[in-house]
Amino acid sequence: MYDDLTRMAEPYKIKMVEPLKITTREERIRLIKEAGYNLFLLKSDDVYIDLLTDSGTAAMSDYQWAGMMLGDESYAGSRNYQHLCEVVQDIFGYKYVVPTHQGRGAEKVLFPLLIKKGQYVLGNMHFDTTKAHIELAGGIGIDMVIKEAEDTENYHPFKGNFDVEALENFIKEKGAENIAFILATVTCNSAGGQPVSMENIKEVRRIADKYGIRLFFDAARFAENAYFIKQREKGYENKSIKEIVREMFSYGDGFTMSAKKDALVNIGGLIAIKDDEELFTKVKTMLIPMEGFVTYGGLAGRDMEAMARGLEEVLDENYLAWRINQVKYLGDKLREAGIPIQYPTGGHAVFIDGKKFLPHVPQDQFPSHAICVELYIEAGIRAVEVGALLAGRDPETGQNRLPKLDFVRLTIPRRVYTNSHMDVVAEAVKRVYARRDQIKGYRFVYEPPILRHFTARLEPVE
Ligand SMILES: *Cc1c(COP(=O)(O)O)cnc(C)c1O
Repeated sequence: MYDDLTRMAEPYKIKMVEPLKITTREERIRLIKEAGYNLFLLKSDDVYIDLLTDSGTAAMSDYQWAGMMLGDESYAGSRNYQHLCEVVQDIFGYKYVVPTHQGRGAEKVLFPLLIKKGQYVLGNMHFDTTKAHIELAGGIGIDMVIKEAEDTENYHPFKGNFDVEALENFIKEKGAENIAFILATVTCNSAGGQPVSMENIKEVRRIADKYGIRLFFDAARFAENAYFIKQREKGYENKSIKEIVREMFSYGDGFTMSAKKDALVNIGGLIAIKDDEELFTKVKTMLIPMEGFVTYGGLAGRDMEAMARGLEEVLDENYLAWRINQVKYLGDKLREAGIPIQYPTGGHAVFIDGKKFLPHVPQDQFPSHAICVELYIEAGIRAVEVGALLAGRDPETGQNRLPKLDFVRLTIPRRVYTNSHMDVVAEAVKRVYARRDQIKGYRFVYEPPILRHFTARLEPVE
């Protein structure tokens, strides 16, 4: 573990670099206007520090890159698939494993096997593609995160927790036969990368058992969640990350995973099932037409090798300590400057409370989005809005959905940026905050009917 001095810098050194293009403020004002004030429509070359997402943006290690050269590209029975299975079995204790091309591929294959039309899937807070796949399978996704998650100002160690009382009441009210399964998202991305405690997972398992319902994990950030448990939950301070992960997953029946997060690869996903052979047989049957044969599931052999190695590497506590502390480092700088953020910071991003930052901009003029535009103009930083723009419209009424949490997400890729970059980000946010009174809201010039945030074009409201 860290001592005082090694804590101050990254627990790795840089072997390869990717130069960043530097633009001027005048150029950025022009570029963002040309992009219809939509950061998704910028060329990544025109971005200096890209905090759009932590998905598929990690830097792989030399050990992972070495593994890429050992790809066995056989159609069936690849040795890299064997290795991946062994690693997953060893870390999670689940018997059955198949790769998928990414997380949503896993959802697309597994969910229709678990959901009957009209059934509910109860989660702490479903990720957007997850909710979409629940709905595509005929189900209804319900979020049951504790109400403390909505209070961005006050500390709670596990803002990703289920409200277990609400969970049990819902099951009683609707009847267990109308619940397809429970899905625990670790960490809880949509609430700010907030962790779920072991106690809460156990409690959810108890309820699941009581009513005969299955519990699955959405496991994208499993290691970051385990690190928080080690830091914050009594009784886990002396356990290894691997022991904590093993215990967390012992309470589940299986998981879907986007490997583009904690598995430290640029593409890939997984389905794993604890011991239900019948379900696994169905998964294999669906996997073949959807993703590919069982031993590659939409990935090259080399991708599976990199994933197996990434899953082992992410358990390194020195890495996790640095990772979580880098997020905290940026969060602390913003808090010290009086900038409203989701507190405490979570595992993969700092979430700025857009409604508190720009109280004069109505929520349906997208305050968080307006901040993102200004951050780009200020320093070439690309953040992402997770608020009213993303939420879209209610299909029944056509009105804008106005979510309680309206965030600017500063998402930090794994092992990519140093704290010098974080200093630039903090300074840019402070400068934008200092001139917040002059920032205007946005309205649509073009609004696509679905997933509007990706392709919409906007203009400032004068
Ligand atoms: C990213 C993510 C997904 C979807 O995974 P993709 O690899 O992007 O398809 C699902 N759930 C959570 C919690 C995620 O963060």
